Amino acid sequence: ATVSVAAILAESATRHSDQTALIMGDQRITYADLWDQTRSYAGALRARGVGPGSKVAVLLPNVPDFARCYYAVLALGATVVPVHALLKGGEIRYVLEDSGATLLLAGAPLLEEAGKGAQAAQVPVLSLLVPDEMVDQVPVPRLEDEASSATPIDTYVPQAPDDVATILYTSGTTGEPKGAMGCHLALVEQVNTLLFDAIPMKSSDVILGCLPFFHTFGQTCALNAAFRAGASVVLLPRFDADNALSLMNAHGVTILMGVPTMHIAITQAAAKNPERPPLRFGVSGGAALPIAVLEKFSETFGADIHEGYGLTETSPVATFNHFGQPIRPGTVGQPIWGVDVEVADPLVRDSIELLPHGELGELVIRGHNLFSGYLNRPDATAEAVVDGWFRSGDLGTKEADGFITIVDRTKDMIIRGGYNVYPREVEEVLMRHPAVNMAAVFGLEHETHGQEVAAAVVLADGADPVTGEEIVAWTKEQIAGYKYPRTVQVLDTLPLGPSGKILKRELVRRLEESGT
Ligand code: ATP
Repeated sequence: ATVSVAAILAESATRHSDQTALIMGDQRITYADLWDQTRSYAGALRARGVGPGSKVAVLLPNVPDFARCYYAVLALGATVVPVHALLKGGEIRYVLEDSGATLLLAGAPLLEEAGKGAQAAQVPVLSLLVPDEMVDQVPVPRLEDEASSATPIDTYVPQAPDDVATILYTSGTTGEPKGAMGCHLALVEQVNTLLFDAIPMKSSDVILGCLPFFHTFGQTCALNAAFRAGASVVLLPRFDADNALSLMNAHGVTILMGVPTMHIAITQAAAKNPERPPLRFGVSGGAALPIAVLEKFSETFGADIHEGYGLTETSPVATFNHFGQPIRPGTVGQPIWGVDVEVADPLVRDSIELLPHGELGELVIRGHNLFSGYLNRPDATAEAVVDGWFRSGDLGTKEADGFITIVDRTKDMIIRGGYNVYPREVEEVLMRHPAVNMAAVFGLEHETHGQEVAAAVVLADGADPVTGEEIVAWTKEQIAGYKYPRTVQVLDTLPLGPSGKILKRELVRRLEESGT
């Protein structure tokens, strides 16, 4: 059998040829045109020697060229290595060397860091997004120039199901980042499964493309699934809530997919802007969606948020509050079709010991959506995949009807004086405080308790001023003595990662450095 992720664009170019695939500023690109441009880019890459087995790194924000480069590389039967847009030269070098990429395609705003990384790794760079008037100042050839003189490819090269389509680097909480390999079958099957009953997009849908395409969530849901459905994607290269909301209104966005910090920010922006888009529903994943956020969002937009759960290693969606059935707030829904999600004993490491329904343990996942291992890291792969199950590192429970609740990441659990405290539970409480708009709970080292519960919050626009001490006193009334945060820092912003998730480690580091 053969399969290819590139078929997603190629087929939509035939079936939805005149439909708008991408909208950016006043530019609208149809599926037929996007595929033609992609075939030209692929022609230029083929002339540079890219073909089956090659790896090509792509460093671009959410612009039309991301889609062209991504599908061009895949159409040639090569592997795409998307690089996080915020990486610095040294980190880019690591990704290039570890992945074995032989070419880096980089966008103009990111060329400086790209250049440093590529030079150190001795990988040639082709540039994108360099305007004509700047060409003389950029010492790197433009892909579009090479494409204009190359012969476009006819169509995509079919792949074996387990050929590697993408290598996505996980942020690497422990040790160096690891390249998770996603094969063509897993990515295609994930998209088809999602569209069938979890997130049923249609060609009439308009999606806000605010999740970065270099991250698994944006790549699968806002790019591949949206394109498979023949929907239109409105691009937002840099997340900004006011801008996101005006684009949603201007283009009639029907599905908003984001991480919780995006839903919070867009809901807050809507307080100043009475216009509403024709939203059918929202989708949340990547981090826990506090129930207070879901409620405010539904009140504001008259639409539910369907929460799902997954990881880079599961392509990413493993569970979802399926469309067309009542959502169950506070849960991440049921396993998607054909995927098993169970709860295992986290202490048994060399085999998988499943626990009965309702018991708390580590979520383990098995199915067509699993990655093919970490590149160059058989040790890490063997630790993560045991008896065919992927160990997620997340703690949760599963009910008899399949609904899964995430309690927290194992590594984020706080042990205070021998008691386990799950930050997520404390965050849910903080988010119910009327003045709080965003909250992060984490452990700080403590002499007698081992760890102490601490929090950082950002207040809502226009909220009554409130001090950290007042919030501490308020939470003390709501939850058990061992759980409430002893310190709450009121900050202007929380550090967010490239996919918009709150970076707790970075927060702890900053607080420790500032001596608070
Ligand atoms: P790492 O540092 O391990 O690479 P990451 O956040 O960069 O972490 P991702 O693959 O992007 O890695 O995210 C996967 C993690 O996101 C999951 O392990 C889980 O902890 C968290 N997550 C995803 N969806 C949800 C959800 N709905 N509720 C709670 N947590 C979630």
